[in-house]
Amino acid sequence: MNQFEQQIDAFLEYDYGVTARQATVPQLYNAVSKAAVKSLSVSPVSGKKACYFSAEFLVGRLVYSNLLNLGLLDRCRAYLAQNGFDPGVFETIEDDALGNGGLGRLAACFLDSAATHDIPLYGYGIRYRYGLFRQYFEKGFQKETADDWQNMGDPWAIRREEDTVIVVFADQTVRAVPYDMPVIGWGGNTVNILRLWQSEPVSAFDFEQFNLQKYDEAVAERVRAEEITAVLYPNDDTPVGKQLRLKQQYFFCSASLQSLVKESIRRRGDNFSHFAEDFAIQLNDTHPVIAIPELLRIFMEDYRMSFEDAFVLVRDTFAYTNHTIMAEALETWDTSLFLSVVPQVYPYVVMLQNSLNRDLKEKGVPPQEQSELQIISGGKIHMARLAVYATHATNGVAKIHSELLKSTVMPEWYRLYPERFQNKTNGITQRRWLALCNQELSAFITERIGNGWITDLNQLKKLEPYQNDPASLARYRDIKREKKLQLCHHVRIHEYGFELNPDFLFDIQIKRLHEYKRQLLNAFSILDIYFALKDGTLTDFYPTAFLFGAKAAPGYRRAKGIIKFINEIARVVNEDPQVKDRMQVLFVQNYNVSYAEKLIPAADVSEQISTAGTEASGTGNMKLMLNGAVTLGTLDGANIEIVEQSGMENNYIFGATVEELAAIADTYDPKVLYEENSRIRRVVDTLIDGTLDDGKTGLFQELYDSLLEGASWHRADQYYLLHDFESYCEAKLRVNRQYHNREEFSRKCFVNTMNAGKFSSDRTVKEYAAEIWGVPI
Ligand SMILES: *Cc1c(COP(=O)(O)O)cnc(C)c1O
Repeated sequence: MNQFEQQIDAFLEYDYGVTARQATVPQLYNAVSKAAVKSLSVSPVSGKKACYFSAEFLVGRLVYSNLLNLGLLDRCRAYLAQNGFDPGVFETIEDDALGNGGLGRLAACFLDSAATHDIPLYGYGIRYRYGLFRQYFEKGFQKETADDWQNMGDPWAIRREEDTVIVVFADQTVRAVPYDMPVIGWGGNTVNILRLWQSEPVSAFDFEQFNLQKYDEAVAERVRAEEITAVLYPNDDTPVGKQLRLKQQYFFCSASLQSLVKESIRRRGDNFSHFAEDFAIQLNDTHPVIAIPELLRIFMEDYRMSFEDAFVLVRDTFAYTNHTIMAEALETWDTSLFLSVVPQVYPYVVMLQNSLNRDLKEKGVPPQEQSELQIISGGKIHMARLAVYATHATNGVAKIHSELLKSTVMPEWYRLYPERFQNKTNGITQRRWLALCNQELSAFITERIGNGWITDLNQLKKLEPYQNDPASLARYRDIKREKKLQLCHHVRIHEYGFELNPDFLFDIQIKRLHEYKRQLLNAFSILDIYFALKDGTLTDFYPTAFLFGAKAAPGYRRAKGIIKFINEIARVVNEDPQVKDRMQVLFVQNYNVSYAEKLIPAADVSEQISTAGTEASGTGNMKLMLNGAVTLGTLDGANIEIVEQSGMENNYIFGATVEELAAIADTYDPKVLYEENSRIRRVVDTLIDGTLDDGKTGLFQELYDSLLEGASWHRADQYYLLHDFESYCEAKLRVNRQYHNREEFSRKCFVNTMNAGKFSSDRTVKEYAAEIWGVPI
């Protein structure tokens, strides 16, 4: 037997006193993971090191992907089988969900790509005790439970007690203890590190209080320290402005910087003049932007640097990635709150503000134009402004998004510092999102063009000769069916025995629940089809399963209302014998990375229907394209680049463009559309006419009002659902008609896979390395 298998046996024997055949699944999981970790050696960084600061890393289940990259996956499966276990047995191990959605998943893809291409990129973040909540439905309403992801252990991480640092707040001081997770590149040659910080008390237990019989006080410090990293905020795209959130941000930024400063001292003593040549720090959105004044503070207070010297180093070190277009999503902190949490940092924000004012004066910016540029203004600290001012590069995450940053979101900053603005179109790792989740399609590709695509996704272009080969297309279709059957099996187990029909077209919308992502528009179109089938006005409809997966932030009432609405539609449709052999509707529970790995390979149609100008990039769209789904979408985010790569004729684009929406913004009146269009009226009225029931919560009435009445803080139908409704339904029915021609449709899917090369995060990370970090590739 080989070393890896022997190591597993040894861990089982040593840790649990069992043989493989006697072991429980958690015991096996821990032993397999530890055996793999033991085989690793972390690659030393000699030149410049890039650091990715992110409040979220949505890595997903690690055991299979790590074994895949190490080349041990097949051996592990064989080992499990030999010992009487199902090779998929680790699927019961929880998903690692220390992120909300796209932003955290992007961070995880970047780490995978960097390790694969020998780029020294290290992640820095927070080891939340509880990750994103788990979701289930009760009577169609979302319910949440805690994500206790450590309940089977955390064998991939190593606690580094010796690298503990102290983090100080106005009202408490805590220890930051790092847990290092190996990030294993393809082939296992490069191993980088994801360092996640956990908050712990400085003194574990206060004996003085205990002896005074004050038991609560004795543990109070522990409780307050652990609170900081207790739970991930479940808001995606909307800042919360809470004290604890600011504490989390400062906690991991200060700890990470202290750790880098120590590393710098190990390399060069306390001469920091080379800091920006040794380290590049990428800030994933504004969540870690507080690192900027914190590094200034460390340099000036602890190492007696002047502001001028420290600021040059800081600016050369940091770069900032913006993830949002919507103004309300740009993070600010109340000055008073900031002062009550980290008063020691505030003077450095003021210094940046003063420095900015000097620059504005020097550049002759007229006073009336200066107010939009103030970092501190109206009693708030504007984190995005601070970030653009104090970094050398600001990037958007898709071409259109980067253009909108310059023209609409921060035009005054673009005028000041045009050379700082860049684009880095997002990407995804093909290791997890094809090699791991779709081994059947991977084998198909490798049989035809070799396996070079695993580290160079542009090689998918070599599939071109097969796009008109009937045998290849037939096999490609068979694989899609195979993946549908696997999904049907998974759904049967996880959705109370739901029998999804594998002969149907699978139309899938999976992403966080947000008004701007327009799941409600999808719901309306499904109702429209349902009514047309019942009325007999729609014939020749290819039977379709409409699938949704999404979590709503627990405090986001409208998002929860939309989930309930779709679940009600599902109940009515699935129970209706008149349509049951032509449509199904299912909202899966607890959509996460592992569920995504099941859903994506089974999709025929990828729903990417955000209002033009609202989705910065999207990455779900790329995963689905790679796995051969056609995009039914708007000209928004990376959808634009997707159709650029694979052709308008192979996708289904509908709806208003950014320019068209800008032109009608002031005159748009959804009530007119509602009055004049009976199809619109019929589907919208289901919210209030008793067709569908929200259990007297008022949720459906509120959705209705949001479309037709608006509110104090937004206009009616601010995301233009009714405006795009007809064009969307038309496109959706066009997909459906063309799906009848199975051969021609599978060619479109195939062409999408073939042209997905651009959307590898390998490409994205190399662009960051070359154009922002100055790290050799
Ligand atoms: C990729 C991914 C996302 C991002 O999806 P979008 O459609 O780009 O919003 C969100 N959640 C999970 C679990 C993902 O894997």
